[in-house]
Amino acid sequence: MNFVNAVHPDNKPYFRAIATPTKEIRAGRSNMSVSCSQCTTASEMANLQRCGKCKSAWYCSKDCQKKHWPIHKVGCRETSSDIPKMMQNFISNVLLNHVLQVALVLAFKLHEKPISDAPFLARCTVSVHPSDMMYYMQILMGGISPEEVQKGTEGMFQIAELVPLDAHTDMDHTRTELWKLSKTMATERGHVGVPVGIVDMLMKGAVQSQSFGIAIYDDALERARSGEGYEMESALFPGRKQVPLTQQACIDFINMHIRSDKKNQLRLRTHLSKEDIDKMRGASDEEESHDI
Ligand SMILES: [Zn+2]
Ligand SMILES: [Zn+2]
Repeated sequence: MNFVNAVHPDNKPYFRAIATPTKEIRAGRSNMSVSCSQCTTASEMANLQRCGKCKSAWYCSKDCQKKHWPIHKVGCRETSSDIPKMMQNFISNVLLNHVLQVALVLAFKLHEKPISDAPFLARCTVSVHPSDMMYYMQILMGGISPEEVQKGTEGMFQIAELVPLDAHTDMDHTRTELWKLSKTMATERGHVGVPVGIVDMLMKGAVQSQSFGIAIYDDALERARSGEGYEMESALFPGRKQVPLTQQACIDFINMHIRSDKKNQLRLRTHLSKEDIDKMRGASDEEESHDI
């Protein structure tokens, strides 16, 4: 049980000082690049339409959507979850994106050997669970069964794990097009020759993922080279303490930052849908089985 990552009340001014404003997250979301699932044309999100059922597939035209349906219908599931949108809010968040970049730099050792001519590929598994940590811990410890969790309970987005994948075997045409566009966009923004990769975001227990292009900016490379860790709160003692910079510390920082956002400025909180609760139940079963 990770009590260290709970949020101390002293954290509020600190959160306000570093958190990305909602307005910027919204603006960032429309600038994000995605690619058409049929013809793989990559473009800014504002120019594409998404599948209204699963909210995870993007299309440049109705025609492409129609052509792709025979393949897409196999994995397309109606979703009542806000998770696809929260993934976009997460990626569009300047601070969280930066910390994700640092985690990726460490995962792929890009600070030692930056690669700019080939993509890197990672899978980021996310989960959503009740934002009341005490309540969530009771679920994990079996005090409350997931069946008892009420639909509409407030939940929050958290990163479960970040796993580097082999880009040689797992990049397909769609991801390659997205990578090319992300590289072009990074160059247009003045980040010439920086490493660019693809992160597949996947809900724990789900099949469908959303791919995002991520450019690694110099400040992320510098942070990784400096080895300077993040300040984390302790629930037990007032104040913050610096922890060594590791991939896991980056993920802990991201999760802690989201937990600190009591007013949902980051748009990473939601009312849990039945589907979210079912997935959480699947995820906690999984965690239990690891212990055996
Ligand atoms: Zn298309
Ligand atoms: Zn769909």
